Amino acid sequence: MKKKMICINCPKGCELEAEILPSGEVRVTGHTCPRGEEYGRAEAVNPTRMVTGLVRVAGMRKPLPVKTRAPVPKAKIPDVLFALSQTTVQLPVAIGDVVIPDVAGTGVDIVATTML
Ligand code: SF4
Repeated sequence: MKKKMICINCPKGCELEAEILPSGEVRVTGHTCPRGEEYGRAEAVNPTRMVTGLVRVAGMRKPLPVKTRAPVPKAKIPDVLFALSQTTVQLPVAIGDVVIPDVAGTGVDIVATTML
């Protein structure tokens, strides 16, 4: 099965096509640099995304901006967002503090992106 996608690694936005061959190997076409080939291969097998969001802060109306420390599997994004919605942090918080370790069993931490 072939999967079409736009490479998001740079503004050029090459149109890629990735195909998983019977051997399990992934063939990527349409890229014009190695980063695009790597992106197409990853998107075909295990697409991932960085997730940003907000969590509640105890005693404040202003929420805390957070993000995943690394990309997480796309299929896990709803679970990650649910975990954010269920979290309230206590102050003080510094940039990079772990707000949720191993969010949704992804092995990736949610970290603060600002200090409060
Ligand atoms: S394949 Fe390379 S040149 Fe094309 S959009 Fe991706 S990173 Fe940019």
